[in-house]
Amino acid sequence: MSLYKNHTLKVYNSLSGEKEVFTPLHEGAIGMYVCGPTVYSNVHLGNVRTFMSFDVIYRYLLHLGYKTRYVRNITDAGHLTDDGDVNNDRFVKQSRLEKLEPMEVVQKYTVDFHKVLDNFNFLPPTIEPTATGHILEQIELTEKLIKDGFAYVSQGSVYFDVLEYNKRGLNYGELNNRNVEELLANTRDLDGQNEKKNPQDFALWKNASPVHIMRWNSPWGEGFPGWHLECTAMSTKYLGEKFDIHGGGMDLKFPHHECEIAQGKACNGVAPVSYWMHTNMLTMNGLRMSKSTGNYILPMELINGENDFFEKAFHPNIVRFCFLQAHYRSVLDISNEAMIASEKGFSRLMDGIAILNDLTPSTTSTLDVKSWSKSCYDAMDDDFNTPILIAQLFEGIRFVNVLNDKRETISSEDLELLKQTLTTFTFDVLGIKDEKAMGNNSDKLDGVVNMLITMREEARANKNWALSDEIRDKLLALGIQLKDGKDGTSFSIQ
Ligand code: AMP
Ligand code: ZN
Repeated sequence: MSLYKNHTLKVYNSLSGEKEVFTPLHEGAIGMYVCGPTVYSNVHLGNVRTFMSFDVIYRYLLHLGYKTRYVRNITDAGHLTDDGDVNNDRFVKQSRLEKLEPMEVVQKYTVDFHKVLDNFNFLPPTIEPTATGHILEQIELTEKLIKDGFAYVSQGSVYFDVLEYNKRGLNYGELNNRNVEELLANTRDLDGQNEKKNPQDFALWKNASPVHIMRWNSPWGEGFPGWHLECTAMSTKYLGEKFDIHGGGMDLKFPHHECEIAQGKACNGVAPVSYWMHTNMLTMNGLRMSKSTGNYILPMELINGENDFFEKAFHPNIVRFCFLQAHYRSVLDISNEAMIASEKGFSRLMDGIAILNDLTPSTTSTLDVKSWSKSCYDAMDDDFNTPILIAQLFEGIRFVNVLNDKRETISSEDLELLKQTLTTFTFDVLGIKDEKAMGNNSDKLDGVVNMLITMREEARANKNWALSDEIRDKLLALGIQLKDGKDGTSFSIQ
């Protein structure tokens, strides 16, 4: 299925600041690299937004029939809280705090990361490499940069020489549209500055002080790699010197991605990436979500309702649906009201999909299903515009409802297209988990929920309101809503 042959996909390229027609380097195949999490603590919901945007982009590329190699790394070493400040190694700091080995910290939060993504129905990347698994490659790149005069050794550390890079006509600052002086103005006075020739130089390799526990042998003594280099090492290894898409949150544009471009060009003589894609930030109640300010919520806290920001628990499908109602390049603000509104919209979508199979075809169609289906593709072809796609899906649901009310007719061919388009985009492209497609286990699930309903009735009879509420809320957190009616309690699965 090579759908892509009939599509003109446009992608906003942060490097040019324009939407460009997407042409992969090799026909039918795409290499995509996304900067993964730094696994020194739990991922917050802001991180999830960024990864979810790329999950949907990946899903759509697959749907179009592209053979996609999707590399998303795990940063498990070397990401300092301040670039260059060795006393602020995130893993070392956290391991002291939790009295764990740094690699135990890494393992704990990698497991958490995967669990969270699993809950939100993410597709796994095709390769998930770690920084610590690629120390050799990073050392090799650093040696090459020194040999070619792009880097220098200073007191056991190695720095990239930004002025030398520019002297050779390369253009540090091109991604951020800033010149070296402007970038300099934003560089804080950090540890290691006295080792550098110029303040804008960045670390490729850092010498480890005697107390630093994450350390590896290198030609320059024991140390650890700089953060920017790991992505160049892993993307080059798995995707080649030049590849199609590189993504991450927009906070990574500078310095991280600027440094990746410089490293790639200096090492291989080519710009490493055709299309740079950056997602905008998640805010909560109008403020950017970030661990450091305390304005953050862990994904599981939103799902289980144990938090101070939202009045109830929300199923992961609702969170996904809410996130995708904003375009990936727009700021997304979540609030109680936004989540409640998404929940309502989501139910409307699911209710419509649930009656698709009840519709019966006629000989002719009075609805233009073909151009509607095309509009769904047009939305995604236009820089992965999920909010417009969702608006189109609701138009599809309107079709379902008027057909169900027998106010319009549909041919069997169009009915098939309506079903295909609605379900493919909702489940395969947007990544909503099809809870109803649980196959043979649905009888067992019904049995378990009915058993819990009986236990809740017993709790209520005993005036144990705490237990009865707990049963209701925990089921809701799993997407199972109990409805109390005069004939007893029924349930629906969202
Ligand atoms: P980190 O683990 O800090 O390297 O972040 C992992 C990814 O999450 C990066 O691509 C960041 O740009 C992204 N990110 C961090 N905070 C937010 C936020 N508030 N909204 C969206 N993405 C974010
Ligand atoms: Zn990166």
